[in-house]
Amino acid sequence: VKTLVQGGLLVTCDEATAVVPGDLAIEGGKIVALGHEATELSRAGGVWREIDASGCVVMPGLVQAHVHLVQTLFRGMADDVPLLAWLRKFIWPLEAAHDDASLALSAELGAAELLLGGTTSILDMGTVHGHDAVFEALARSGLRAISGKAMMDSGEAVPARLRETTRASLDESVRLAKAWSGAASGRLGYAFCPRFILSCTEELLRECATAAKEHDALVHTHAAEQVEERRAVRDLLGDDDVALLARYGITGERAVFAHGVQLGAEEMKGLAAAKTRVVHCPSSNLKLGSGIAAVHAMREAGIVVGLGADGAPCNNDLDGWLEMRLAALLAKVRSGTTTLPARDVLAMATLEGAKVLGKSQEIGSLEVGKRADVIVVDVSGPHTAPALDVFSTLVYAARSTDVRHVLVDGELVVRGRELLTLDAPRVAARAREEAPKVARRAGLG
Ligand SMILES: [Zn+2]
Repeated sequence: VKTLVQGGLLVTCDEATAVVPGDLAIEGGKIVALGHEATELSRAGGVWREIDASGCVVMPGLVQAHVHLVQTLFRGMADDVPLLAWLRKFIWPLEAAHDDASLALSAELGAAELLLGGTTSILDMGTVHGHDAVFEALARSGLRAISGKAMMDSGEAVPARLRETTRASLDESVRLAKAWSGAASGRLGYAFCPRFILSCTEELLRECATAAKEHDALVHTHAAEQVEERRAVRDLLGDDDVALLARYGITGERAVFAHGVQLGAEEMKGLAAAKTRVVHCPSSNLKLGSGIAAVHAMREAGIVVGLGADGAPCNNDLDGWLEMRLAALLAKVRSGTTTLPARDVLAMATLEGAKVLGKSQEIGSLEVGKRADVIVVDVSGPHTAPALDVFSTLVYAARSTDVRHVLVDGELVVRGRELLTLDAPRVAARAREEAPKVARRAGLG
């Protein structure tokens, strides 16, 4: 099917941050022409499905490089507590209480929210068990995702159901990587996800680095998140997590660290030199009281930084627009009013996010030859008018509810603010029924 997205303002988010008024042509899941050439191409013949984008911005879908779909069902169940207590008292018992059906529902709920809000690609960390159910839900949803089961073979206060042997954790991860890499016409990929250094042995982390290389996959973990956590890591292991992870081989372009709030200047230099990626999760960092990451300094040091909402229980939504706005605003407080302007934040949410995922050749910008992950954003509302500077409008004023249409791989997944792949109202209704049951199983209901 050939699609023409008509009459919008194309905010390409390419390296030159080009903005072009006109049409966008899509064929075979790929972008084939932009602007005048797209119009000409559609006039040259063939049957074109037309999507009206007048009064709208047409741009690449947002990339969120750190989320936990399995936690979406726990939204509102773990508010106002610090990180380690949040994990040990709430999140781990809740994850342990998940069965395949609740995992699938949680993933569907998250995917529905993400797609309706214009996020088309994610890097996702699951829980220890049942990750096939998450991938099956992802396949149904139409979202593009790199996802992996959480790996945990160590740590304090880990529920029995989440504690695995080193061997079992690796074997299951490799099985999932083989089963799901490239699934759903290439939309799905695998990431090895050792949860964080306090829940993983050195052996697991070392083997993880090797397995990721062997299977051409990412390694995704949390690092340098909170002061108390950092102290616990030092007490137990005698060094900081970032240094230890690098020593164990979790470094370089395959390695993606969520947070980095506690990073010092020397650590940033090291990460930049190694090309290790960092994901900024501003809402989560604020809600868990972790602090404000020095994103401007990271980018100045040369680190590629993406954005992510993290999990619903530490945010409490998965809204890429709010993360963009917060990232921009927090940078003013952390590093000065002139830092992290709208254009840079939009890059973090698109092309740089794609770089974090190792997929910037395929997604992250509107360029001929790239996969057609495209969103149409209505900027005609009173809260966005007069929309003179489109970057300012998108980062500081636009909202997830302004997203009108969403295409992933050239397939229309949201049309007129309605999700076509999943029955979103029914998913939300089922979530209201199932969430209290999971909480009861976790001993929290
Ligand atoms: Zn996280």
